Amino acid sequence: MAVIGIDLGTTNSLASYWKNGEVHLIADENGNTLFPSAVSYVDNEGLLVGQGAKDRLVTHSQDTVCSFKRFMGTDKMYQLGHKNYTALELSAMVLERIKQNGEFFLKEEIEEAIITVPAYFNDKQRSDTKKAAKIAGLSVDRLINEPSAAALAYRMEYGEEDKTLLVFDFGGGTLDLSYVECFDNIIEIVAVAGDNYLGGDDIDSLIVQYFCQENGLNLEILAANDRSILQKRAEEAKCRLEVEKCTNISLEIEGKLYETLLNNDILFQVCIPLFTKIKELFIRILNDAKARVSDLDDLIMVGGSSRLSVVRRFLRELLGKEPVVLGDTDKVVALGAGCYTGIRRRNEDIKDMLLTDVCPFTLGVESWHRKTDMEGYMLPMIERNSTLPSSKIQRLVTLQDYQKGIVVRVYQGEEYYAKDNLYLGEISIPVEPKLAGEEWIDVYFTYDINGILYVEVVNSHNVRNHMWLSNQELSEMELEKYKKEMEQLLIPPIQQEENRKLLEELESYYESSSSVWRKRIGIMIDRFVQGLNCGRQHLIKRTVEDTKKYLETMKETMEHEEEWLFDGELKQDMEDVEELIMEEEIKIDRKEMPFNEFNLGDSWDTTNGQ
Ligand code: ADP
Ligand code: MG
Repeated sequence: MAVIGIDLGTTNSLASYWKNGEVHLIADENGNTLFPSAVSYVDNEGLLVGQGAKDRLVTHSQDTVCSFKRFMGTDKMYQLGHKNYTALELSAMVLERIKQNGEFFLKEEIEEAIITVPAYFNDKQRSDTKKAAKIAGLSVDRLINEPSAAALAYRMEYGEEDKTLLVFDFGGGTLDLSYVECFDNIIEIVAVAGDNYLGGDDIDSLIVQYFCQENGLNLEILAANDRSILQKRAEEAKCRLEVEKCTNISLEIEGKLYETLLNNDILFQVCIPLFTKIKELFIRILNDAKARVSDLDDLIMVGGSSRLSVVRRFLRELLGKEPVVLGDTDKVVALGAGCYTGIRRRNEDIKDMLLTDVCPFTLGVESWHRKTDMEGYMLPMIERNSTLPSSKIQRLVTLQDYQKGIVVRVYQGEEYYAKDNLYLGEISIPVEPKLAGEEWIDVYFTYDINGILYVEVVNSHNVRNHMWLSNQELSEMELEKYKKEMEQLLIPPIQQEENRKLLEELESYYESSSSVWRKRIGIMIDRFVQGLNCGRQHLIKRTVEDTKKYLETMKETMEHEEEWLFDGELKQDMEDVEELIMEEEIKIDRKEMPFNEFNLGDSWDTTNGQ
């Protein structure tokens, strides 16, 4: 029984599989690996899916649909013949054909698939993709994000060093930028930005406009059929420029032949309005990722439109960097999905990689600000859109004098009052009866990509209690399997050996220093703890690195201070010292430690009780 990877694209879909330590693409009977995501209705015959359907786009545009992925997760209906279909149903048809095609190619039954989706797909779009697969007879263990798949393909090619990547996925109708951090065995999407209406089709339209302008034609009054032929010829000419220096576009209208020459210099000029939009997206994603161009190690070109040399030239000029091209840009995502099937099957040839995902809803516990509150509010533990897997700790203190225990009620949702959210379960723990606020418990949440939540509570006497919650119906065996996978995540960063030692070191410096130093170290401790609790893997890693560096600089500075204390030039030197340490602090601030974004500091004051 085979497992395949599928890139279910807006324009084209592809499938791949893992065999003998390598990833391969699945081809159709004509050797084509690109499968157009198009469906067409043929009178008296029924529905045609794939290349045959795409070929009818010009001749039978009324009966042909494509780009329906854009409306995944909505109720939009497409009419084909006498019936209406949703994007989910049309996607199911594409998946079914890919499955059939794959079975013919592999001479084996295919039951399972890993499907890629855009990183920004919401919960509904993701669950509709899974439903489409189910209709097509495919069980989908996991969806992975397209940029993660691309990053995985990149890592297979270039090794597993820590890298910051920008995945530039330029397809037929969309441009998706993703800022991805790869470190250890984790691939994490930090930010995404995109334009759902910016792709190869728009380049074709710009070429059409240019053609009309050059030939003194008015596009508005061109017959619909001429217009679609011209659009198709523009696309063909654009693709020819990959191998030819110069090409011709021609169109005959009412016996008269119109022609225009196209080369890369002309195309570059023609594309300038599009490049302006791309530049804006770059600014947006870098702002969102709080990064600069210089932070990027590589720019990975993905999607059919990334084949265009004018696009590469533009990016080279914009970023001052040579873009990385992994073979055919329109196949990278599918190849990454195929690599992932290798990981899922625990294939020996491939290292266990962890692809992070995004949590589509908030998970939290019920809490109270003060004991007179009528209703408990929702205290978020794992925020919506956090990258998964994610671990968080929260300390809660008693609310009533002499209360004997705390009940931690777990909810899912975005509402202010806990009761308005979806109740998932509860766990209780005894506490020593003392005055309100004097006793505390720590609540640990670990949520993984399989939708399993592990909750543990610990009181001040180290008594522990835990529970597992899952959003899917899982058999005992599956749960066991997932539990094992999660074990590595269960030690929250703040309790990991290395970090505990760092914290102890900071604390001991705090103890032994005075005045300015004390204040500084206090701030560092606070930042360190918050950073470790921010729930984002790459930021945690950065926090640890930065804290180590800070500690080193601090120790050095302190040593100098001691020397200077004895040579009488204290004042000037102290100013130098100040400057040195401030530089380090500013550097850390500028690196956008998670602290502003994840201001957990406030929530430590919240109280909880029964
Ligand atoms: P999607 O991810 O949206 O399904 P693809 O990655 O398959 O799309 O990209 C399709 C787009 O790539 C189309 O606009 C097509 O014109 C363009 N394309 C394909 N081959 C080339 C090429 N050789 N040169 C330029 N553009 C190309
Ligand atoms: Mg794509």
